[in-house]
Amino acid sequence: MEDALHAAGKLLKGSGKILAFTGAGISTESGIPDFRGPNGVWTKVDPDDFHISRYLTNPEVRRRGWKLHQSGELWGARSSVRPNSGHEAIVDLWEAGRLAGCVTQNIDGLHLEAGLPSEAVAELHGSTRAARCMSCSATWPTETVLVWMDEGMETPECPHCRGIVKTTTVLFGETLPDEEVSRAWKMAEEAQAVLAIGSTLSVWPAAEIPYQMAVTAKPLIIVNQGATDLDHLASIRIEGAAGQALPALVKLILSPD
Ligand code: NAD
Repeated sequence: MEDALHAAGKLLKGSGKILAFTGAGISTESGIPDFRGPNGVWTKVDPDDFHISRYLTNPEVRRRGWKLHQSGELWGARSSVRPNSGHEAIVDLWEAGRLAGCVTQNIDGLHLEAGLPSEAVAELHGSTRAARCMSCSATWPTETVLVWMDEGMETPECPHCRGIVKTTTVLFGETLPDEEVSRAWKMAEEAQAVLAIGSTLSVWPAAEIPYQMAVTAKPLIIVNQGATDLDHLASIRIEGAAGQALPALVKLILSPD
């Protein structure tokens, strides 16, 4: 890992702005399981429960999902998870003026909680922290909806139109939010290199961003435990835990010569 870290530090120090592209692996050290890692969610939960058609047609799936948020389990809006040193290292890059932005597939809100301003983050798959009516598009902080549940509502419904209320997290079968996608591509254009962290880079269309950057000759540096689908395009691969590797890498990038 040491050699790869130094090579990446040297390369990124001399590049222009960097795009951070993050996946579930950056948050495992905060206690949130990933999907496809060895202890990932897919080893315990049926992926079909994460499909929009099941969510819309099965009140029990909705009730179960909202109960998890209310009780603070997993990545829910009331969970006690906190950002880790990997999230903090990305904030250091931003504060030093070296980050074009952070495009994340994560729905846990931890980049914002770590201190990145909202204009620096594109949450491609939405967030557990915001909720929306599927019929009239009214929105609320998720905590507001959880208060309705605390007051006795079993499965949240819209107070205006009685529509189905869901967090803004993108389920299978849903399209990505336009505003976040266009902000992500703007950040990618501004950046001269991409640092992909804790992602198998196998979920499309999100992975198209590091893919396009790499094939247009912008260096792709990967920090991950295990293989990714874009390893063949990487300039440098750092095999290791994000919470250890990222602070060390950012220190090298920001160190005076
Ligand atoms: P993924 O589950 O496909 O892959 C995560 C990768 O990170 C794996 O290769 C794993 O081995 C690696 N990893 C795990 N811990 C690591 C660590 N500490 N340091 C470095 N690497 C580590 O994740 P993905 O590519 O982001 O795609 C999964 C999808 O699931 C995303 O679309 C995302 O929306 C969603 N998801 C989000 C969260 C979250 O918000 N925290 C959690 C689970 C899944």
